[in-house]
This record gives sequence, C-alpha cells and structure tokens, in this order.
Amino acid sequence: MSENRGLFTLDAAQAYLAAEPEMAVEKLSDRLYTISDGQVRTIFLEGDSSVIAFDTFGTPGRARAYGKAVAAAVPGKAIGTIIYSHDHLDHAGFAADLAADAEVIADELCAKVIKLRSTQGQTQPTRVLVGERHELNIDGVDLVLLNPGPTHGSGNLAAYFLEEKTFFSSDTILASAKYGFMPDYHFANFVKYMRGFLELDWDRFIPGRFEVCDRASFERGVNFIEAVMTACQHAFVNFVPIWAYEPMKGFCIEQLGESFGDLEGFEGHVGQMAIRIVHHYLMGGWGLEDTPEPSVLLADEIRL
Ligand SMILES: [Zn+2]
Repeated sequence: MSENRGLFTLDAAQAYLAAEPEMAVEKLSDRLYTISDGQVRTIFLEGDSSVIAFDTFGTPGRARAYGKAVAAAVPGKAIGTIIYSHDHLDHAGFAADLAADAEVIADELCAKVIKLRSTQGQTQPTRVLVGERHELNIDGVDLVLLNPGPTHGSGNLAAYFLEEKTFFSSDTILASAKYGFMPDYHFANFVKYMRGFLELDWDRFIPGRFEVCDRASFERGVNFIEAVMTACQHAFVNFVPIWAYEPMKGFCIEQLGESFGDLEGFEGHVGQMAIRIVHHYLMGGWGLEDTPEPSVLLADEIRL
C-alpha cells in the first residue's frame, strides 16, 4: 500500500508513514477529550451527531490511529469537522487519512500556505476564518478560536473553552524546556500574544505536545521563553560566539540555571533554543510574521 507521503520523497519512508502508534485518550468533560501519541497532543469534541477533531497527527498511520481512538471514545459518531491548529504537517498534515469527507476549518493564512504547498495528504480547508476571534457553534458545540497574530507556524488557531476553563494552543508553550529547536516561531510578538491568552479565565492548558498542565506552568513557560530571549541578547553584549552551540549552551545555563534549571529538558534543549533565538536578533525575524504590524500578511495576495 502506498501512503500519502507529505513531503517525503523516499519510498523507504513508507514504513514510517504507515506505523500506527498507541494513542492515549483522556476525557476532560462531557464533550472534551485530549489525545496523544506520546509526543504530539491534540483535542477532540463530541457534537450532537458528529465529532469535531482538532488536527490529524503527523503521518497517515498516526491519523488512522487517531480516527480509531476517536471511534472508540465516541462510538457511532463520525468525524464531521477537522480544525487545523496551524499548517505544520506533524500536526495537520493528514486529514485525507483521518476523515477524507470532513469539513476542514483553518485560519486564512494557514489555508493559503496549504494551498500553495499542495502536500500529499494535507486536505485543503473548506471553511476559512479571517480575523482574531471566532465564536462558533459546530454541531451543538460552542467554541472560541483565537489567532492574535503570528506565534508559531502559519495561521495558528488557539481554542478556548469557557465551560471547562481550558485553553489549547499548539506548539507554543510547554510546561518544560523541551521545544529546543524552534523553527517557524515568530518571536517579535510571541511573548506579548502568549501573555494576552492569560487574560482569559482558564486553569487548564493543553499544549501541542507532551502533558496537560495548569495555568501556572503555562505562565512559567512564557517567562522561560522571555528569559531565554533576554539571555540571548546578553550573549551579544558579552561577545559570546553566538553561532556556536557549546558556548551558547554554557552561557544560557549560567544565566538561567538558577531560575529555570528545574524545568524538564533544560540542559538538553536550552542551547538549541538559544542558537535559534540569536538568529531572531541577527536576521530580524522570520519574515513578514516578525514585523510590528504582521496583519500585512493577510493582505489579499493569494486567492483561495
Ligand atoms: Zn508546528
């Protein structure tokens, strides 16, 4: 069998693409569930007659395992809606293998990237959201989707559930230091937008990876990223060779170890984080996403 292959070109990738891992499902309320393959995490909701699934996981096999886990948790209701948290293939690359006929909802920018990328297995969104805040009712489920501006990836939609006092934001904050390599993070406004989410009333945070955590852990995760950004600027001031891994790792451990050394993965990841973040200051950011007014990204230059 030939799997949808994302961007892989090697036939040898088929074994990776086909593998179906164990999925761990946790029911958080009458309608809200979270699911993880041990690394990536997302959520799904039970509607009146269907399931609303966020994301797809990152291979066809994982998408199928997700679908089977949803069917076991909510028997008799098919996935009618998929919401992409952002464009990245490791989260949202395989709707074709999860539920080929589902309505697919995504932010405008996410939809544009997906259209132009045309990756095998990543279904084009059928319903595009434009703007910062959306209050939706999908099959009897009320939910709020938020995109304050570029945070990670393209068109990142966070989800807020007032009833459960729960907040979901993929690939942004963790309760640990385990993001390390941070491509496609838009640091110019990242901390500001994350702190904005703290203005909402919630006490449970569901990240795009690893474990569910509380509000205090989210806040500390934001503080940690801000502290690494500060330490990276100090590295320039101190003429640390900012392009070299070992000196940057050592400098950051020295600067941040006392305050954040207890975070899981700190010593193993802070050096990689720093190498990425110094390039924010060296290069000026990722592109339009890291300008003071990134809403220019939504100028209508690509038609859907
Ligand atoms: Zn991502």
